[in-house]
Amino acid sequence: MNKMTKNQKNKLLCNNCAICCSYIIIPIKTPKNLKDVDRLIWYLYHNVEIYIYNNKDWVIKVDVPCKNLTKDKLCSIYKKRPLTCRDYNTKTCEKFEHFNPYNFKFTKREELIKYLKKYTKILEKN
Ligand code: SF4
Ligand code: SF4
Repeated sequence: MNKMTKNQKNKLLCNNCAICCSYIIIPIKTPKNLKDVDRLIWYLYHNVEIYIYNNKDWVIKVDVPCKNLTKDKLCSIYKKRPLTCRDYNTKTCEKFEHFNPYNFKFTKREELIKYLKKYTKILEKN
């Protein structure tokens, strides 16, 4: 049997997927007060997910497909795609959950409040 090249493997892996072209990740500041918490709850009400990486780096994940994605789930600007896309590493591809580095994930207000009560004093102060 012929060995597949890395590109061929990636093509098979990515076939009809495009998960990683369907959202953006934005770093946010660590919440320090009730106003910050209110903002996070507002995000959650809009179905924006919140994650904590490395036990300190807060990010939000916004589900918005890239406008360069074709109906066949291919990149229409592949040769000119942004560096952010080029840096994506298929070894850590989320499709098969090879890589799951976050410490906390919040999709609901209750989950966030539970975390804040357990690990911070923000809600006590006010
Ligand atoms: S999530 Fe993984 S399999 Fe899907 S398109 Fe991105 S790199 Fe390919
Ligand atoms: S530019 Fe291309 S590779 Fe980058 S997110 Fe959009 S469709 Fe995906």
